[in-house]
Amino acid sequence: MYIPGMYIYGLRKNESMKYKLIRSKRRTLCLEIRNATLVVRAPFLYPEFKIDQFVKTKEKWILKHIKKVKKQFQKKPNEIYLDGKKYSFEIVFSEKESVKIAGSRIIVMAKNRECVEEQIKNYFKLKTKERIEVLLGRYADVIGRNYDNQIIYKFYKSKWGSCSARNSLSFNAALSMAPPEIVEYVFIHEIVHIKVKNHGRDFWQRVSRIDPDYKTHRHWLSQNRDMLKI
Ligand SMILES: [Zn+2]
Repeated sequence: MYIPGMYIYGLRKNESMKYKLIRSKRRTLCLEIRNATLVVRAPFLYPEFKIDQFVKTKEKWILKHIKKVKKQFQKKPNEIYLDGKKYSFEIVFSEKESVKIAGSRIIVMAKNRECVEEQIKNYFKLKTKERIEVLLGRYADVIGRNYDNQIIYKFYKSKWGSCSARNSLSFNAALSMAPPEIVEYVFIHEIVHIKVKNHGRDFWQRVSRIDPDYKTHRHWLSQNRDMLKI
């Protein structure tokens, strides 16, 4: 008898490998490693012995990934920031790739460990781009038309943003990890550089007119560099 829901079975041939079985309206079997636990998704009427067989054939892959997840958790604290808010961080090895937020968790679904990093980086780059695009609209009158429309987003090691001599703007793709007022300060800093290229008195006066709390925000950045590392 198959009732939809979650079951935990031990494997017949390999007592040490257990998995969570989730039955649903799907057509094929699928394996995931969630927090170092194996999850098998199966169609409602798929026979148990066939699932066991399938898991057995994938044993190498499963053990390799469980080991990797365990290592990952030992190496990095299990948390990450978005918009200055702390999220716990969950890796799911799956054929389907995505990054999603569920409450206070960020769930990264990826094929393998190399893809995990790529997924996270793409996600934060996209979020940073979204945040900057909102600011481009908000400060359109300050910016004027005097900048290069192609904005660059990269994971720089030591800068949050820059404005070139030709007024092309670039921002650190990890910026969306910081609180919104910090992202806004970095943005303001760079757009003021469109008019003033140095960090002289005139520059800071212009910055403070737009962001009166700029000193606090600058200080925050100098204190939280590590938090924004991916
Ligand atoms: Zn500057």
